[in-house]
Amino acid sequence: MLFQFYRHLDRLIFGTEPKQRLRIYRSLMAANVYVICVGLQIYACWVGYMDERDVRTLSTVIVLNVGVWYILLRTGLSRLFRDPSLTLPQILAALTVIVGAYAVTGPVHGSTMMLLALVLVFGIFNLTARDARIAGSYTVVLMGLTMSIKLRSDPTHYPLKLEIAHFVLTAAIVPTISALAAQLSALRARLQAQKDELASAVTRIQMLATRDELTGLHNRRHMMEVLNQHQRRLDRSGHHRFCLALLDLDHFKRINDTHGHKVGDEVLRYFAEQARSVMREVDVLARWGGEEFLLLLVDTSPALAQIGIERIRAQLAHAPMQVDGHAIQVTFSAGLTGYWGTEPLDACIERADHALYRAKNEGRNRTVIDLGPGAELEPLACAAAAAEAPQVAML
Ligand code: GH3
Ligand code: MG
Ligand code: MG
Repeated sequence: MLFQFYRHLDRLIFGTEPKQRLRIYRSLMAANVYVICVGLQIYACWVGYMDERDVRTLSTVIVLNVGVWYILLRTGLSRLFRDPSLTLPQILAALTVIVGAYAVTGPVHGSTMMLLALVLVFGIFNLTARDARIAGSYTVVLMGLTMSIKLRSDPTHYPLKLEIAHFVLTAAIVPTISALAAQLSALRARLQAQKDELASAVTRIQMLATRDELTGLHNRRHMMEVLNQHQRRLDRSGHHRFCLALLDLDHFKRINDTHGHKVGDEVLRYFAEQARSVMREVDVLARWGGEEFLLLLVDTSPALAQIGIERIRAQLAHAPMQVDGHAIQVTFSAGLTGYWGTEPLDACIERADHALYRAKNEGRNRTVIDLGPGAELEPLACAAAAAEAPQVAML
């Protein structure tokens, strides 16, 4: 119950979007500095060093300041800005408030200088090098101006000698913190660049390990893994049967010899694209070797798988490849079989290979189905396949 309450409260304060939550968390953490600042003022007022009116004014400014940043972050309006964390504006506002406190805390004004350093330390982790320099310069200039005004208006509490010491301290410490922030920012940028490089290298390695570079299809090694997974799934569940088809482009050597190897490569890419454009999303096509492809058709029978293969054939006929203004008609032969879960995968692939061999021998541009040991074609599906694909032979 209590846990639920805290969860609701947490969501109410920080929202649910992870990045924005982190920004709000950081902003509220920085608001701690303000709490210290208010505490200091109350103490200064209590011991008679500060006007009650000044305490009230400064505290109101502080509350408004925290409120404005919180609203901008919590409503997501901060995302409209270049830096959605609003780090620099928040830091500049905090610095202004603290310099304001410096101006009204009379005899204890020296202690507010530590808060200046604290605010800049918050910036170290988030500011860019440029923003860190802006924050540093802003602090030194604002402090210089405030000191020169206070020297004249309240020389008792802001004597020249003390203010010179304060200014020297500010002018020495603030730029050092800014320089540190700039160095850290450069380090962060370098780390980020290395992280990005590593991520893209990993993606590329994954790509090389699983994909065929020329066609973008799965490569043979990865296809074997996919097939093993499907085999295990079938073994476990007893259903999810699948079919395998070996597709081999007809007279591909002739295309290479007539048009050159580069066009041959184009034809392989074209075939992969056309096939993918009409395949079911769940089916997987891999480049098995030179101009040979292995097609995995999941949760289907050979008769229905046949319909999928003929769709590829029809697509190739419908959209022939264009080379230098003339069309190249690409055809393929296919050997199709079903996997029934009672044999090694190699045996199933070998059966598809034999069926492909027959398709070549019987005149190419056709599909030969070898049902394998475990099944017969369902009559209905068989009729559908035959209607769509006249060039079908059964073993
Ligand atoms: P069939 O109809 O009997 O399959 O005849 P085919 O000419 O397609 O088959 P064959 O095995 O005689 O020739 C295949 C050719 O494919 C030979 C090889 O040079 C070519 N080849 C293999 N891999 C690539 C490749 O990546 N790019 C290109 N352009 N050609 C390739
Ligand atoms: Mg061939
Ligand atoms: Mg071949």
